[in-house]
Amino acid sequence: MVWLRREDHEDRELRWLRPVATPSRNSGGRRLPEAEDALRTVFQRDRDRVLHATAFRRLQHKTQVMAAFEGDHFRSRMTHSLEVAQMSRGVARALRCNDDLAEAIALAHDLGHPPFGHVGEEALHEAMAAHGGFRHNAQGARIVDYLEDRYGHGYGLNLTRAVRTSLLKGRIPDGFPLSPDLLPKGPLPVEAQLVDLCDKIAYLSHDLDDGLRAGLFAEAEAGELRLWQEAARSAGTEQRQRVVSEVASLLIHDLVQTADVSLGNSTGNSTGSSTGDAVLPRVQHGPTMAVMAQELLEFLRVRFYRSARVLGVMNDGAARIRRLFDSYLAHPERLPEGAQRRLTTDGLERTVCDYLAGMTDRYLFKASDAL
Ligand code: MG
Repeated sequence: MVWLRREDHEDRELRWLRPVATPSRNSGGRRLPEAEDALRTVFQRDRDRVLHATAFRRLQHKTQVMAAFEGDHFRSRMTHSLEVAQMSRGVARALRCNDDLAEAIALAHDLGHPPFGHVGEEALHEAMAAHGGFRHNAQGARIVDYLEDRYGHGYGLNLTRAVRTSLLKGRIPDGFPLSPDLLPKGPLPVEAQLVDLCDKIAYLSHDLDDGLRAGLFAEAEAGELRLWQEAARSAGTEQRQRVVSEVASLLIHDLVQTADVSLGNSTGNSTGSSTGDAVLPRVQHGPTMAVMAQELLEFLRVRFYRSARVLGVMNDGAARIRRLFDSYLAHPERLPEGAQRRLTTDGLERTVCDYLAGMTDRYLFKASDAL
């Protein structure tokens, strides 16, 4: 027999992964127990479920930085998520961590983003101030646990605990309706840390590219950044695409080298399901690279994320979110059927918030134009 069964993948993981990594036999399980698949590990199945989710397809028309309607070649949340998945797989594999888990987390990491990025997120958080607030990470967990109701069993995509806990990066607003078993937050799998760093590497490099494409700064200005200079030197060219891709490579190689040392051969509590004493080592960039990455981030903040052109579009989107929020509060009968069914369980405000957060940029435009 030549083909690989699930058990073969699982056995291979145990031989291959470093002790701190998360084998799929240590996934923490699913809320609703399921029969195992003959071919795929639990994390490979989680990855496939995320990829087939409606919320994932909507990422295609959600803003990363440049609104999706401003040009065909800017990153959307979906292309961003795919870039993060590709980097996370590579980094996890290089470090002998679980690349299937990393890929599943990466594909799901931005599912909870509302239309119009962080400005849209702020608008929803303010509108929900008295009702548990809003944050995209928490919303991501809510989507996979509940809102993405594909199978009608009430457990959403019924993902493994390792993937679900990995979506809860950062602060969760008080009173945000998460599945009770996710709180209090436990330690995250090491793969979640790797994805988080790959998320930053992906946006630092692709936003440099998109900012240049949008003409918000010139190559000569980017050329003053130390990381750009390092990349040009290392690539042996000033050619823009080569330099941008070398920026990503330098960050990835630095991460792998630094993380390899800090992860060592120690074991950690990697499922997030037990309360052992072992504390996972923190994964980060080396000090020189951390400084250069921070310099690039500051540059992008000033010249790109907070530029008048980007903020103008985002603020208009946020104003549309606020108008629609008030309109649905006053007229819940205008909510679509799926949302109407959740009104009694979730309450009016949360139902409206979930509905608006799920919208794509262009759907939000259509809905608010129709007011
Ligand atoms: Mg991201």
